Amino acid sequence: MRYISTRGNEKELTAAGAIIAGIADDGGLFVPNHIPVLENNFIESLINLSYQNRAKKILAEFLTDYTEAEVSACVERAYGNQKFDIDLIAPVVNLSEDTNVLELWHGPTSAFKDMALQLLPQLMSTALKKTGEKAEIIILVATSGDTGKAALEGFKDVDQIRIMVFYPQEGVSQMQRLQMVSQKGNNVSVIAVHGNFDDAQTGVKNIFNDEEFNKNLNEAGFQLSSANSINWGRLVPQIVYYFSAYADLVKENKLKMGDKVNFVVPTGNFGNILAGYYAKRMGLPVHKLICASNANNVLTDFLQTGTYNRNRAFHKTASPSMDILISSNLERLLFHIGGGDKVQVKAWMESLNKNGEYTVGADYLAKIKEVFWADWADDTKTAGKIKSVYEKHQYVADTHTAVAWEVADRYKKVTGDTTVNVIVSTASPYKFNASVLAALDKSKVTEGNEFAMLDALEKISGMKVPEGLDSLRTIKILHKQQCEKEDMKKVVMSLVK
Ligand SMILES: *Cc1c(COP(=O)(O)O)cnc(C)c1O
Repeated sequence: MRYISTRGNEKELTAAGAIIAGIADDGGLFVPNHIPVLENNFIESLINLSYQNRAKKILAEFLTDYTEAEVSACVERAYGNQKFDIDLIAPVVNLSEDTNVLELWHGPTSAFKDMALQLLPQLMSTALKKTGEKAEIIILVATSGDTGKAALEGFKDVDQIRIMVFYPQEGVSQMQRLQMVSQKGNNVSVIAVHGNFDDAQTGVKNIFNDEEFNKNLNEAGFQLSSANSINWGRLVPQIVYYFSAYADLVKENKLKMGDKVNFVVPTGNFGNILAGYYAKRMGLPVHKLICASNANNVLTDFLQTGTYNRNRAFHKTASPSMDILISSNLERLLFHIGGGDKVQVKAWMESLNKNGEYTVGADYLAKIKEVFWADWADDTKTAGKIKSVYEKHQYVADTHTAVAWEVADRYKKVTGDTTVNVIVSTASPYKFNASVLAALDKSKVTEGNEFAMLDALEKISGMKVPEGLDSLRTIKILHKQQCEKEDMKKVVMSLVK
């Protein structure tokens, strides 16, 4: 299998090449040049396998330049060694006949980013060895919180790679800051930038775009790369859990082999739900992929009307990991829906860049609507759903998951579709404890005392506080470095010397 750019005629790369490069030179995203279609008995063959062994089989379809032993070693390092707090890795919780929850937050940082960011570093490190690349890679991350910690956990102590995370001094929660400044590992740097998230993000972008600076780095034996969700190595791990969820539902007799399911996905950058689209194209019996947004409902509008328009107010919501106005991975969907029409994709992306909008033709929209359904929920509806789900099922959902739940219920009401739904749950409720407690019992919210809220949530949910958060009570601070936003380049240079 080869990887090509969504926008142009760039040379074809192997999976290893695409994972090292991250983004294509023409600004496009790497996509596989064909989507493998699995044989009838493939899904059946997954039923009695562990998550790790399911992952090996599915990844092998896309990472054809990796040997079986290489894929296997990467998977074991990512999902083995008790890094996840449950053997099933991504369990499906069945709450009622038609309500199933796919929990993607049992990894070290209690959010779904771990599913991909545990595996990407292994794939990248192996790719460096396979291709004979001698440079040491520096992963630069600007974070508003969650991605930074998940990337640090994934990349710590990985061969031939260093990771540097810049976070805004006044832009992350107390819990998120503690998670990052206590990060262990011999290749990690964590730096507070005096400024907000945009300042940190702009600083990182400037470093990537500074040719002179990159040349100097290369001469010193280093090469920059990024861990954000446009890298193919972050997308491919996510395909696995769609198959795994289906296999589990068959195993538990909730579905018969071949029955269809819907997945309802809380969506931001369109990475998670796009992995579901690949799974469907590979032959997984998916009826609809339901895209759930918060008040930043740019995707709802697009999937309903065919017009993508980012010229709108940005809302800070209770589901901050979905506060996004440019969903980068949509570009990959447009490429596949149009059968690989790169010229068209390029024109739309240029229009998005210049005018902030584009409109796809009726033919595209019809094909998109065959597969996708979309709606959104505001913070009030989301909080109401956290409460009603708890009352009905004694299950505590986080804010992102609750957005999906609200949209799932509306989908059923509007369409009358009785296909089994799987709600994709992307974060532990502990990760967003203040919003979750506010929805369940306002009197338990203790501003400024995060640990009291963990304890309160433990009482309500009957679920243990995740180790990664619990351990922050007594943690040692290892990273105290700070810098002015103008000095980020200097910091990178000094760290590699
Ligand atoms: C990143 C994230 C999302 C959005 O996922 P995309 O792949 O960007 O669509 C949803 N929920 C949580 C908790 C996240 O961290």
